[in-house]
Amino acid sequence: MTGTIGERLKGFLERLRLKSVLQGLPHQTNQALAQGHSYSEFLERLLQEEVARRDEEALKRLLIASRLPAGKTLETFDFGFQPTIDRRQIHELAGLSFLQRHENVIFLGPPGVGKSHLAAALGVQVCRAHRSVYWTTLDDLVKQLHGDRSWREPARLRGGLRSSLIIVDEVGYLPLERKEANLFFQFVAHRYEKASLILTSNKDFTEWSKTFGESALAAAILDRLLHHAHILSIEGDSYRLKHYKKSDLAPKKDQQGGSI
Ligand code: ADP
Ligand code: MG
Repeated sequence: MTGTIGERLKGFLERLRLKSVLQGLPHQTNQALAQGHSYSEFLERLLQEEVARRDEEALKRLLIASRLPAGKTLETFDFGFQPTIDRRQIHELAGLSFLQRHENVIFLGPPGVGKSHLAAALGVQVCRAHRSVYWTTLDDLVKQLHGDRSWREPARLRGGLRSSLIIVDEVGYLPLERKEANLFFQFVAHRYEKASLILTSNKDFTEWSKTFGESALAAAILDRLLHHAHILSIEGDSYRLKHYKKSDLAPKKDQQGGSI
């Protein structure tokens, strides 16, 4: 053996890529000596740092791969602004049992009430639980399904379409062509009772039928999406207009309460 024990240890830790153990070693050694830590305690402290760093890096990777919009978390959501939202139900969903049970979550409501924010916030919870998430819009999803048929064979699934949770934002903005609706049906059927979806829409389910075109196909899609689904209808003011309403740009209310 060559070199000092310190040099050899450094070499081993580098080869094993135990970056945090390597960094923490001098400090933890001093601490152990000063405070009389046992060998097990010393080892635990070193490994704790390594595990914490790896968890953090894994979360970062999951968040990047998910394409979730940045900063939309439960912590940044102001529940006080939207009293129709059942806070307890959101926290229940944040516990992720819906994901274990392969259930869907559907957020409905007018623009700006926080549907996408809450969908993304649940996505962040899933990443924090070390599971994969993929954020897309219905429009982008059908384009992707068109170009990449790998999703039809689960063993060959690639990229985001393999994720534990797929969030489909903006269902119902644009009507799908028959071929696209068909692809979406196959996609929904493929995940049915096997993996969760979260969908957001500012249209109600009758309008969804129009989005999916032909009525039998629309019924088949809705049937599978809604069979095991948590449906959250949010009513209220647009958060986007919150600041606008307070500003001088907003029309002032007259004495009777109407706009002037
Ligand atoms: P929707 O999808 O319902 O149209 P979004 O979730 O995109 O609305 O919300 C619009 C914007 O307002 C986003 O930037 C979102 O982060 C923010 N927002 C909406 N509701 C809230 C809320 N209750 N607390 C904090 N931010 C909110
Ligand atoms: Mg939205």
